[in-house]
Amino acid sequence: MSDRIYNTIIVGGGIAGLTATVYLSRKGQKVLLIEKNKECGGLVNSFTRDGFQFDAGVRAIIDAGIILPMLSDLGIELEVVKSPVSLGIEKEIINIDSVDSLLKYRELLAKLYPGSQGEINEVLKNIRKIMKHMDVLYGIENPVFKNLKHDRTFLFKELLPWLPKFIITVGKINRLNMPIEDYLGKFVKNPSLRDIISQHFFKNTPAFFAMSYFSLYLDYFYPKGGVGKLSEALKNKIIESGGEIKTDTKIIQVMAEKCLVKDQKNVTYKYDKLIWAADLKTLYKITETEGLSHKIKTKFEDAKSKMLKNRGGDSVFTLFLGVDEPLESFRKIAHGHFFYTPSKLGLGETHREELDHLLSDFEKVEKEQILTWLDKFTRLNTYEISIPGLKDPELVPPGKTGIIISFLAEYDLFAKIQKAGWLDEFIPELENRVLSVISDSVYPMLKDGIIARFSFTPLSIENRVGSSEGAITGWSFQKSMPVVNKIQISDRSVLTPVPSIYQAGQWAYSPAGVPMSILTGKLAADKVLKK
Ligand SMILES: Cc1cc2nc3c(=O)[nH]c(=O)nc-3n(C[C@H](O)[C@H](O)[C@H](O)COP(=O)(O)OP(=O)(O)OC[C@H]3O[C@@H](n4cnc5c(N)ncnc54)[C@H](O)[C@@H]3O)c2cc1C
Repeated sequence: MSDRIYNTIIVGGGIAGLTATVYLSRKGQKVLLIEKNKECGGLVNSFTRDGFQFDAGVRAIIDAGIILPMLSDLGIELEVVKSPVSLGIEKEIINIDSVDSLLKYRELLAKLYPGSQGEINEVLKNIRKIMKHMDVLYGIENPVFKNLKHDRTFLFKELLPWLPKFIITVGKINRLNMPIEDYLGKFVKNPSLRDIISQHFFKNTPAFFAMSYFSLYLDYFYPKGGVGKLSEALKNKIIESGGEIKTDTKIIQVMAEKCLVKDQKNVTYKYDKLIWAADLKTLYKITETEGLSHKIKTKFEDAKSKMLKNRGGDSVFTLFLGVDEPLESFRKIAHGHFFYTPSKLGLGETHREELDHLLSDFEKVEKEQILTWLDKFTRLNTYEISIPGLKDPELVPPGKTGIIISFLAEYDLFAKIQKAGWLDEFIPELENRVLSVISDSVYPMLKDGIIARFSFTPLSIENRVGSSEGAITGWSFQKSMPVVNKIQISDRSVLTPVPSIYQAGQWAYSPAGVPMSILTGKLAADKVLKK
């Protein structure tokens, strides 16, 4: 046991756990990062199949004033390229290359919805307003990654002048915390237009987060060699600074009073501090609180009941394709990160009431009804299409193209179909429909050119990273969020009712993605070091 005693144990080798580990190992702590899969990275990962390299989770990375400052702080040189975005509806496609692209977006919407000029102008006015807030929010490098004691120029010339603007902006942002659907409903009466603007966001996404995407489109970058290079760089830094990483090891029990975690082979590891950087429902389910004070136990039970009542947010279905067609054919159509909607009609209630209706009485629903619904869902949906080779041509065999097509998908649909025993039949039905919609609209070369094809469902995500309901950005946006969701108190997001246990990652703060997962990883490491 003596060689299994650590200052800090970090569970979960996704981007949050990697961040926490690297910052602790750099400070000379004896740390152990435990990851259940063979490789680290979680949803920030890349893999190769049939000579094509794909990204398993996030398709490109948003700096958000967090990631590049962290890399510079850690002395990591990562070769990156811009990952420009295109937006398309039916035959209209625009490239988002600068703030001026907003004008092209207005023209595109005006062409498709000629009767809604006033509403479109209002949408654009609101996007511009929110872009100004974003300029303030991400206007300086995040101070969490700066050494304020030594970097006096940053402290006096950047941070202090920025703080009053930040405080005013946070107030404005908090007032935009309502669901995007309700927010747009106030000034966009055309339901199709409303859908087209918002349907590729998670249900009830806070308006500020959704409307800020026009700024974020300009912020995306892509590590040469794939998104997974970011995780790999952090992993290498951990090893370089003496940290220990144990993969293929799943934690199945936390004994809070004894400060022990146990893995699937019943091996125990002792910690002074634990950072849980994985699914929080799992943490609360597998933690034993016997021996802790009554006060802590009560707080723990209270937090546990809130967590278990809530759900993970929307998941995704992803289709990976290898195509016998050169990158150039695709480059002519759109950038390598493309949000495409084949129909201007919008999903309406297809993915909400209509789907809820099918799911609520699933046992009585015929397969044919599901497939008919699927026809409509795939025709009206918005797709996130990523072509890694357009960002780094070395990621594909010469003359060929790898494509990743994904869209938001309801976990319960896949879970119920699996339970009913026809998931293996359903997946090709879904893949075929997506292929047919995309090849009939934007990429006709997919009709005959496919040489490799496979997909990940929300159930695959749940299996791979152990995330409740296959969620990819933590909690669903519900009324009573079980974790911190205000930026000005984000440092509290890493605390749990048990003083020796901290939490980090997509489940610790809402809304979260890669930048917030990294930020909470760093905040958790800072708290451990402060103690
Ligand atoms: C298709 C897709 C698109 C996305 N797009 C964006 C985007 O545009 N912008 C953005 O910011 N974010 C995006 N995201 C979300 C982003 O990738 C995640 O929010 C972020 O990577 C989460 O990091 P994490 O470290 O918190 O969690 P994870 O990546 O889930 O890592 C958790 C790790 O813990 C491990 N683990 C779980 N349970 C245990 C256990 N019991 N014992 C040991 N190990 C365990 C898992 O295997 C995993 O490696 C996207 C995700 C996907 C899938």
